Amino acid sequence: MTPHPTHPHQLPPLPYAQDALAPVISARTVACHYGKHHRGYVDTLNKLVAGTAFAAMTLEQIINASAGRPDDAAIFNNAAQALNHNFYWRSLRPGGGGEPPLPIKPLIDACFGSLEGCKQALVAAASARLGSGWVWLVLEAGKLAVVDTANAETPASQATQRPLLAIDVWEHAYYLDVQERRAEHVQALLDTLVNWGFAADNLA
Ligand code: MN
Repeated sequence: MTPHPTHPHQLPPLPYAQDALAPVISARTVACHYGKHHRGYVDTLNKLVAGTAFAAMTLEQIINASAGRPDDAAIFNNAAQALNHNFYWRSLRPGGGGEPPLPIKPLIDACFGSLEGCKQALVAAASARLGSGWVWLVLEAGKLAVVDTANAETPASQATQRPLLAIDVWEHAYYLDVQERRAEHVQALLDTLVNWGFAADNLA
């Protein structure tokens, strides 16, 4: 992951139009998720770090410096959510899904048996996560793994796990479109929107 710049943090442009992920993720969901939730994390973080030692840090540095420190929980949560969402939008693309490119395809087959096995592991993790959080495809010790994190927690704070793909399973990611049917949402996202090229790029 390319390090982010320091304060003031910016909301990156969406890499596609707000209606480009429809019908799986509607323009209404993207407008609220990107325009309100994601923007809110960035704006709140900028207010929280202004005038503190965190102002000179990148998002990654803020996350590492605030992780596990109760006094800095609000800073951690907003920095991690800013970074998680930057990663999430790039994990999707209009006309996504399909077959993963080299060099990630052989790793998927080796670690999950098949692409279908990898997708099933991601859907299962999304279904099993109680409450808000994230599902990730990560590279760990040379192998692919599916992990899930609670709330704002992120594998980006783990030296041992490199994030390759992020799937947001907070209700704001899917509730306007499919209400409680989270597994159905994640399955459709994997079939038609997931950006395997982005995951492959993140291996390098
Ligand atoms: Mn979100």
